[in-house]
Amino acid sequence: MRINANLNNLLGQVKQCQLCAKHLPFAPKPIVQLASNAKILIAGQAPGQKTHHQGRPFDDASGQRLREWLGVTDDEFYDPELFAILPMGFCFPGSYAATDKKSGDKPPRPECAAKWRQEILNQLNQVELTLLVGKYAIEWHLQQKLTVTQAIENWQTLWPHTLVMPHPSPRNNIWLKRNPLFEQQIIPKLQQRVTAIITAVQL
Ligand code: SF4
Repeated sequence: MRINANLNNLLGQVKQCQLCAKHLPFAPKPIVQLASNAKILIAGQAPGQKTHHQGRPFDDASGQRLREWLGVTDDEFYDPELFAILPMGFCFPGSYAATDKKSGDKPPRPECAAKWRQEILNQLNQVELTLLVGKYAIEWHLQQKLTVTQAIENWQTLWPHTLVMPHPSPRNNIWLKRNPLFEQQIIPKLQQRVTAIITAVQL
């Protein structure tokens, strides 16, 4: 795995980061997967509680669906020279309480992208495909307020270098049922592109 000195230095700083600790439910535990020569960037949301405890990104039902969408094995997915995994918030942000009006996990802490994101992205200069997973990644990377549905309606304008995607969480099953073209038309194209990138690396 290739990690240049700048990225290594940044990762060391991220591991020590306490910037938004007072807002987190547990002590900060940044969960990212990075190598300087990664070919596919997964810009996700933030680790869930299960991922927080297990310490590996997308080690949950969302990750299982994401790997199916990508058409890759666990070994391929967890190869940092193939996939860089850089969520919008590196630490689990906590979940809404039963008494809150919302449910599910809280949004990624905004301090994280403001502090770390661009500097780390600057070190990933071999990325051929960026996957913007969910609305927080879509808004930050495209610098536009868009719903996931709006962004995906125009997915071809960014293809083949970037793909906007719904979050693979089971919480999005209703969205996927209402928008069947995503899995019927876009996923096959994504799988072809990912296979081509991985095959070229392995040659
Ligand atoms: S979420 Fe990001 S900014 Fe907050 S403590 Fe973790 S690494 Fe630092």
